[in-house]
Amino acid sequence: MHPDRADMAQGAELKTPLVLQNYIGGEFVPCSRYIDSYDPSTGEVYCQVPDSGPDEVEQAVNAAKEAFSSWAARSPADRAHVLNKLADLLEAHLEEFAQAESRDQGKTVTAARAMEVPRAVYNFRFFASSVLHHMTECSEMPHAECVSYTVRRPVGVAGLISPWNLPLYLLTWKIAPAIATGNTVVAKPSEMTSVTAWMLCKLLKEADIPPGVVNVVFGTGPRVGDALVSHPEVPLVSFTGSTATARLIAERSAPYCKKLSMELGGKNPAVIFEDADLEECVATTVRSSFSNQGEICLCTSRVFVERSLYPEFLQKFVVAARQWKTGCPLDKSSNNGALISKEHLEKVRSYVKLALSEGGVVHCGEGVDPLPLPERNKNGYFMGATVITGVADESRCMQEEIFGPVAIVTPFDGEEEAVRRANNVRYGLSAVVWSRDVGRVHRVAQQLQAGIVWTNCWLVRDLNLPFGGMKCSGVGREGGWDSYHFFTEVKTITVKH
Ligand code: NAD
Repeated sequence: MHPDRADMAQGAELKTPLVLQNYIGGEFVPCSRYIDSYDPSTGEVYCQVPDSGPDEVEQAVNAAKEAFSSWAARSPADRAHVLNKLADLLEAHLEEFAQAESRDQGKTVTAARAMEVPRAVYNFRFFASSVLHHMTECSEMPHAECVSYTVRRPVGVAGLISPWNLPLYLLTWKIAPAIATGNTVVAKPSEMTSVTAWMLCKLLKEADIPPGVVNVVFGTGPRVGDALVSHPEVPLVSFTGSTATARLIAERSAPYCKKLSMELGGKNPAVIFEDADLEECVATTVRSSFSNQGEICLCTSRVFVERSLYPEFLQKFVVAARQWKTGCPLDKSSNNGALISKEHLEKVRSYVKLALSEGGVVHCGEGVDPLPLPERNKNGYFMGATVITGVADESRCMQEEIFGPVAIVTPFDGEEEAVRRANNVRYGLSAVVWSRDVGRVHRVAQQLQAGIVWTNCWLVRDLNLPFGGMKCSGVGREGGWDSYHFFTEVKTITVKH
């Protein structure tokens, strides 16, 4: 093993406590203060994350500024070559990253191995390729004897802030397009899940990414995140996280007129008509509601079922939810691992209690089914897949993002009612429609207020197409062209001939 990587996270064999360092100007830099980071599956502290502040952000922004002109001057093909090298390295270390992500976040190793780390690899490959194929526009005005065309250039130092639910995937979703288009970056992962970002820094050198092109400053939102979004020399910020934090970021960055891209929370509906393929619909809705412990912004949390199908759907859905096993993240048979933190577990549980106090019925999961856990996981933050009915649309349980393994099922009568109730929240991130009627599928999909609508499937992502939410779920879109547009400035040049 590479000597630098001897202390890389190794799942259960990880050297503890693991002490992370910031990555600034191509060097690992220790910090004077540290934050405890917990293994969610045991409740034990296993890692120390730098508690950086404005000084470290200042150093990182300076390093990124210094690296900008030469990185921006490289050809897209040259930058793509480096990104592909990084993708190859990450792929070669897939297992180490999967083990580390599972331990840091609580998700199963299987999910990290099959989905998150491969998708992070693909982020680098995808943007390495797509940056070679973007074209700018040209338009003629024959009467004015003019031709106009556009050019696109990188913007400068990008501030990238990511959450804890899909740590490596969401961070690389930002780093890849930002550097592919010639920007340099200062990234801030969530203080709760920083390990795989730190491991990635170790690969940047090997991939020949020049010092200062990618800097990572670890720490909390109020200290590092705030210093980054209010830094005058950071002209663009890509943020993924909660709507509440997005508001603060919008306020703090407003005096500088920064470019902002915000990927925020959701309260996503599934609308299931009586002609749905029931077997596939039940299996997919269990996955869409409970995958990654329900900690995916795109997870279904409100399940609207046409009344004639409701009893049969509910019966089958509860049976399938019970089979969705919650257990030790290292156990191959576990579908779900632990939630991110004790506080978050308590928050998710509080919604179940609220539903009960409002007359709701809990059919399985929290408070109903015992969770047999191995001894070492007894203090972990686990909660079983929970299905609730009998909750009014106006309840906080139906209006607020729970972000845990909780699905609320409710019957509806007719298309118009389904659309109206599905849209009756402040969020608009994603939705799912189940029907075999092609006309209805299109009609309903077009009326739903959501940035992404899946029909008869879930989480099928084409990175060429826009990703993001409407209403309180986001500002702007990312993905193929949209990432290219966000991470570049466009200029129109008119030439008289
Ligand atoms: P969060 O808003 O608490 O934190 C997100 C990031 O912002 C973290 O790195 C945090 O340290 C930082 N931050 C916190 N306060 C800050 C401040 N004042 N200034 C700058 N940065 C600050 O969100 P979270 O709890 O980490 O993540 C869960 C949320 O993320 C959920 O709402 C979920 O729906 C959302 N999410 C959205 C998407 C999407 O693509 N739309 C994807 C994943 C998660």
